[in-house]
Amino acid sequence: MQAFTYQNPTKIVFGKGTVAQLGGLIEPFGKTVLLVYGSGSIKRTGLYDEVKNQLESIGATVVELSGIEPNPRLSTVNRGIGLCRSEGVDFILAVGGGSVLDASKAIAAGARYDGDVWDFFMHKAKIGDALPMGAVLTLSATGSEMNGNAVVSNWEAKQKRSFGSIHTYPRFSILDPTLTFSVPRDQTVNGVVDIMSHVFEQYFSLTTDVPLQERLCESILQTVIENAEIALENPENYEARANLMLCGTLALNGGLISVGMTNDWASHGIEHEISAIYDIPHGAGLSIVFPNWMKYVYNERIDRFAQYAERVWGIERGAKSDEEMALAGISATRAFFTRIGAPATLSFYDIGEEHLDVMAREAVLFGPIGNFKKLNRDDVKEILVMAL
Ligand code: NAP
Ligand code: FE
Repeated sequence: MQAFTYQNPTKIVFGKGTVAQLGGLIEPFGKTVLLVYGSGSIKRTGLYDEVKNQLESIGATVVELSGIEPNPRLSTVNRGIGLCRSEGVDFILAVGGGSVLDASKAIAAGARYDGDVWDFFMHKAKIGDALPMGAVLTLSATGSEMNGNAVVSNWEAKQKRSFGSIHTYPRFSILDPTLTFSVPRDQTVNGVVDIMSHVFEQYFSLTTDVPLQERLCESILQTVIENAEIALENPENYEARANLMLCGTLALNGGLISVGMTNDWASHGIEHEISAIYDIPHGAGLSIVFPNWMKYVYNERIDRFAQYAERVWGIERGAKSDEEMALAGISATRAFFTRIGAPATLSFYDIGEEHLDVMAREAVLFGPIGNFKKLNRDDVKEILVMAL
């Protein structure tokens, strides 16, 4: 196990009816609140009214920024930064899924920075300060509710890039599983794939002798697999939605499940390049990329892949070689994604070879990606070709 430092400042308030605590959670941060949300799901479900009542109960002045896109855009983030400055915003409240949370974090960092917020995404500047932000989560997927990461698309430049900072962790996140009852089937599926992918990025590591972290990863994967189809069949099954929600949060909360380990993150990097050009949902892109990445890299540590097959998918070893086990585990992953309705190929989105070279070039903009196997431009291109 390698040396590590772990710090996570986010307060999690979990359970049915916890939106009733929102006013009290915001009050210490000031009176002017920027309320950030998406294209209207929170109005349809009634959550918007509940949130507004909470803000009213503490006498807050509310400034609204709505219309955050799935795969949030830099232009919208810049509008939010402008509002923070012109209205003297004290606190940013994100109500929605990962896109709304990520946009809010970028606004929070940009509002306390004199330069262009895109600098943080292009590694040209480091975040030194941010407005405080908090979240009411409505979709289980990204872990953004308990991490400092934000992913934003610069649509004009066809770039989708991320940052991570201790300053952009939400001060609190309200996690009420009932708020995810209304998540449509395809978004539930995308969320399931994203959660599993976050675990994969950490679990498939060259670091050895970390049995606790391996089992933490495996237990999250098993819990997601057990609950995904229950939630898909019965979207209002509280326990299934609650289990998925907690899995999503723990899968990516600053790396608790993989402390002392190197992480990979190549598949996320590759997916971001697909979304940057084609604007496809992140989870769907990961469903296309991840099993192909697995096939491309499993030889680097075949024992970990064999263990994955045995412990996560319950594939019996019998007389199978490690290689047969590894391949069976990868097939089980693809079969599960297909069973829940996640796409397997780029052609599902009518994506052909046209921009694969650009994607491969952009994926390695700051150097080779991944740690399990370091991928250069040609490796990325090969994985993308496998995904066609
Ligand atoms: P999302 O993009 O936030 O939301 C997807 C769709 O689901 C939106 O149309 C949204 O509608 C709808 N929705 C959300 N909650 C709903 C509800 N309760 N009922 C009905 N509809 C609902 O999805 P996401 O998967 O959470 O976030 C994806 C983004 O996060 C991507 O940009 C991805 O790259 C990024 N990401 C971030 C991290 C991180 O660590 N920060 C990790 C992985 C991925 P409305 O617009 O109407 O709300
Ligand atoms: Fe993700």
